[in-house]
Amino acid sequence: MTTQVVKKHMVVAQNASGRNMNVPIYRMKGARPGPTVYIQSSIHGAEVQGNVVIYHLIQRLKDMDICGEIILVPNCNPIGTNIKAGEYTLGRFDPVNGTNWNRGYFFDKDAVEHFAKTVTREESIEGIKQRFRAHLSNAIDNKLSEPWGLGLAQQLNLKLQQMAVNADFVLDLHNGPVSTRHVYIPEYAKDSAKLFNIPHCIFIPNVFAG
Ligand SMILES: [Zn+2]
Repeated sequence: MTTQVVKKHMVVAQNASGRNMNVPIYRMKGARPGPTVYIQSSIHGAEVQGNVVIYHLIQRLKDMDICGEIILVPNCNPIGTNIKAGEYTLGRFDPVNGTNWNRGYFFDKDAVEHFAKTVTREESIEGIKQRFRAHLSNAIDNKLSEPWGLGLAQQLNLKLQQMAVNADFVLDLHNGPVSTRHVYIPEYAKDSAKLFNIPHCIFIPNVFAG
């Protein structure tokens, strides 16, 4: 069995001469039902190794009979990756205003608490999920259409987050230089961390710098 890979592009910015800068999006849908998985890489422009991981995943998965849907977004920050200083790729901050490329995703604690109050005992888990995703997607759209105050990093983050909203599993591939094998894990996902079989886990608070 094989699985078809559908490739599309999303415009995320323009370069100085007005050309569009694109993010590639690969979608694979299995014939059988299953969860939706979203994986992106290289939001920090210099962390290109995750792109290789996604390349290998595509090679493996296209020859397999998958369940559910997989959305793969390599090289998700073409702006960051294209900014070079000599041979060095800066990649971590928007050089215009110093914003970290990875801090602009949407989260509003009050909105979550407000939403929680609308949930009734009778509502099914699926129903709650569906309603919350619609709620989140709507909030991201509203944020994106704000007339001012959104830097390029936040716009990029929100556009990517919008694609991940319906996923059951979201992985954001980051990587560092020479180190022991480790993974950062938000505290709420402590138990899932073991599934990666990576010897060292660095736990970070659930609410961390956006
Ligand atoms: Zn990173």
